[in-house]
Amino acid sequence: MIAKTKYIPDGKKELKELPIIHYLDAEYVYYPVTSARCPEGETCVIGGQFVKVGEIIGTRKGAFFEQPMHATVSGEVVGNEKHIDQSGKLVDCLIVKNDKKYTMHSTIVERSDEEIDQLTKEDFIKIVKDAGLVGLGGSAFPTYIKLETKDTIDVVIANGVECEPNLISDYGLMMTDPRSVIEGLIYAMKASGAKKGVIAIKKKYSVIEERLNFCLHSFSNYDIKIVKVGNYYPQGWELAMIKNALGIKIPQGELLSKYGVLNFNVSTLQSIYNAVKKRLPVLERLFTISGDGIHNKNFRARIGTLVTELIALAGGYKNPEQPKVMILGGPMMGTNIMRDDVVMTHTTTSLIVMNDNPIKEEACVHCASCVYSCPVEIQPVQIMNAYKVKDKEMLKTLEVNKCIECGLCSYVCPSKIHLTEYMRLGKRLAK
Ligand code: SF4
Ligand code: SF4
Repeated sequence: MIAKTKYIPDGKKELKELPIIHYLDAEYVYYPVTSARCPEGETCVIGGQFVKVGEIIGTRKGAFFEQPMHATVSGEVVGNEKHIDQSGKLVDCLIVKNDKKYTMHSTIVERSDEEIDQLTKEDFIKIVKDAGLVGLGGSAFPTYIKLETKDTIDVVIANGVECEPNLISDYGLMMTDPRSVIEGLIYAMKASGAKKGVIAIKKKYSVIEERLNFCLHSFSNYDIKIVKVGNYYPQGWELAMIKNALGIKIPQGELLSKYGVLNFNVSTLQSIYNAVKKRLPVLERLFTISGDGIHNKNFRARIGTLVTELIALAGGYKNPEQPKVMILGGPMMGTNIMRDDVVMTHTTTSLIVMNDNPIKEEACVHCASCVYSCPVEIQPVQIMNAYKVKDKEMLKTLEVNKCIECGLCSYVCPSKIHLTEYMRLGKRLAK
């Protein structure tokens, strides 16, 4: 009974049909002082201080980069509280009481096209760095570091595949504002010196293709193409996407730039557009609440909004007396959380709430489905066995570090073994 699985239910159809509720006026907004990539941070404002939209209110500090924190509302700094961030950790958050006037900081002035034409590679990098931009597809990798490459870049690829079930943030963006994605792509091409741009979307996204093509007519002096790739999972994983969209096979662990490629998620490209054209940091995001344990809704909400408020606006939990499983992000790669006071950050796209129906894990039946389904061609079942006996050398031999934590092995396992968790543990042990 070998099953090679790539097609999984994507749960997006109903979500795409739901209207988007604009909730941009939260009374209080919360800014985590740290993040998964920046375990330290400091604020540069004090209680009682008035801040404006786009004003720097602190800095998150990581091992190799610093990310400025920006206010997304105007109002008064009123203190600190602990809440959950995107990584599921309880972190310190600075609180700003929204005055609902949205007074812009003096630095937020739109650039003219003539000014943008004069920008050098260094200027683009500085703009992106100062705006605190990170990969919005979930990686949170600093965007300016990708642009800083000294390698010759031939093509910038816009990743609009968003293959993870239940996530529709990139889809929503391409439907409502495809032009900002294209302009962001053009800025990334200018910053990196790439002559070509490619927008990768799923085969089934004909409507998106139409919208992008319509906008591309205004940019016919740029070499930008739309490439449609498979509808399966994990087609959005950058190496799979690049292989299918560009025909370039890049080995795991190698820098894309060495192969003349830079890859950005479409939402990240929109953030580059906003930073370059409007001098804006990321102010808001599309956020989806889904799952059978909650009323499903789509929101456009400000960075810093407490998800608890969105849950209440959505109509709250279904059968609240029943225990729930909560996942931040997608069902395959998301993070399990124990409480819902999550703060919306740059990478917060979705909350899934499911009624908890405990699944009994059974013994491995040696079906090899996990091995056949693994996109990076490692052996999850062998890795699990090596982890159980804490065999570090075997974990390295089995190349546990190649695992991209896509969740497919757990999904296909007929014995309901949570193999992906063993992969995570195995990676930590093999370090
Ligand atoms: S989670 Fe890791 S081991 Fe499992 S299928 Fe995905 S890449 Fe392979
Ligand atoms: S771990 Fe699950 S999927 Fe893998 S061989 Fe065993 S039963 Fe099959």
